Amino acid sequence: MLYCYNCGFESPIDKAWHVYAHGEYVDSTCPECATTIDSRPRKEAKSLYT
Ligand SMILES: [Zn+2]
Repeated sequence: MLYCYNCGFESPIDKAWHVYAHGEYVDSTCPECATTIDSRPRKEAKSLYT
């Protein structure tokens, strides 16, 4: 479970979060307030988002 530290939204990391890939990194952002919650290398994120 991943939590938004800004608005308190919570959801499993592979569910409601908006995912933006940029360069070698993939960001997970809150669908409620657009705060970036998580940023990780693309290689690592691949197993989570595919
Ligand atoms: Zn939020």
